[in-house]
Amino acid sequence: MNRPERNSLKKDFSVFISYPSIKSEKGTAQIGQNRQFQWFKQHSVIYPIVPAYAATLLGREGYDVFWDDAIAKEEDYETWLSRIEESKPDLIAIETKTPVVKRHWEIINQIKEKSPHTKTVLMGDHVTKLPEESMEKSKTDFVITGGDYDFILLNICNHLTKGDNLESGIWYRDEEHIINTGKFNLNHDLNKLPLIDRELTMWKLYSENGNYKYLPGTYTMVGRDCWWGRCKFCSWPSLYPKYRTRSPESLFEEIKQLVEKYKVKEVMDDTGTFPVGDWLKEFCGLMIDSGLNKKVRISCNMRFGILKYEDYLLMRKAGFRFLLFGLESANQETLDMIDKGIKVEDIRHGCMIAKKAGLNPHLTVMIGYPWETYKMAQNTINLAKDIFEEGYADTLQATIVMPYPNTSLYKECKKNNLLEIKHRDWEKFDMRSKILKSPLKEEQIKELTSSLYKLFFTPKYAWNQFISIRNPDDVKYLFRGFSKIVGKHLRDFAR
Ligand code: SF4
Repeated sequence: MNRPERNSLKKDFSVFISYPSIKSEKGTAQIGQNRQFQWFKQHSVIYPIVPAYAATLLGREGYDVFWDDAIAKEEDYETWLSRIEESKPDLIAIETKTPVVKRHWEIINQIKEKSPHTKTVLMGDHVTKLPEESMEKSKTDFVITGGDYDFILLNICNHLTKGDNLESGIWYRDEEHIINTGKFNLNHDLNKLPLIDRELTMWKLYSENGNYKYLPGTYTMVGRDCWWGRCKFCSWPSLYPKYRTRSPESLFEEIKQLVEKYKVKEVMDDTGTFPVGDWLKEFCGLMIDSGLNKKVRISCNMRFGILKYEDYLLMRKAGFRFLLFGLESANQETLDMIDKGIKVEDIRHGCMIAKKAGLNPHLTVMIGYPWETYKMAQNTINLAKDIFEEGYADTLQATIVMPYPNTSLYKECKKNNLLEIKHRDWEKFDMRSKILKSPLKEEQIKELTSSLYKLFFTPKYAWNQFISIRNPDDVKYLFRGFSKIVGKHLRDFAR
């Protein structure tokens, strides 16, 4: 049986950090480190950074940790469940998302049948907003609220093994009662986090994600989570209402280790928005002075309207490559309504100067705001198309507006009776269907969305990409991108 190897000295308390495989006719649920839930038909996984920190902290403390990502391992549910039955871990922690939370309740109940003594923990953005719901609807023992579920999971294990007091942000059972320790706080010092134990957390499973141009690639997350933190559709500010970062030196040391020890060629830092100002300058200086900028490429999430051309030049020199920007809408009214904090004119200009500095901007666009007419949605598509055709952005991605329950967009839509779904129809929040009332029909949203992906098949784009080819890695990257668009995006939004 696939009993994991014991990896630590403390063998009397085993902790599984688990992603049981969840499938539907739409594909496999992608959960870890995924800001917007998706079903994937093509295998593609992202390294779940905060759970990886949890595993590292627990391993370092002497717990017997097993990284149990059945989704990344492409292991079916029955195999996973048999292993749980055989291994009978002391604790299983599962990260959940809105569209699959009900499936996770069933899974937890099955775990309890197969291994009654196993303690179960649910964590993630959905349960941060609605902890009581999961306590009531499933037999889970604990719910962690807030995004520091690495530190808090360690606290729960220390509570169970050593009697430590539970810290704030935890829901649990006492006999028949559901109790909580109050509102979570984010007073954990990120600079005290150890470097992620990449072997323990099987980093290789995630090292060929289609977003990387140079392989192997991996993820880091130097900040939690976004210094803006106000966009009304974004669920991460509810996990991290306070912005914190590790020091520039610590990210530099982490990347150095990744390059020297694991031969990593590309790093995606998935902080909601990468730090700017003196922090960024200091980090770039470290990369340049050490020569590490010549050995690795870095990608990150960025916002329009904050960095100047000189900043982008410095980033390019420091090894940055791919910058992911949220365009969201080309209508100022919408940008203001969602509190994006940018002007429409920042978008084209931001792409232009980043591109001119030698970076590869990537745009994310959303369609289906309840107040946007077809013409307004078409404006957004047109702007994205123009930027793309002008060669100021290299890749883009379109999604349907999804008001997760922990966002202020959800609250506002609910108040204004704009939700098209029934109360707590959580499985519908899967980016496939329109769940907000809108002047657009579902077909129109899908048609607009797929029209964006068709841009990848224009002669102009093909030519721009052809002239940018410098080495075999560029060709392979283009091929991976192409198969992702055909195999996933166009199929997802086909009528
Ligand atoms: S800028 Fe990005 S990460 Fe920050 S709140 Fe807006 S959508 Fe979320």
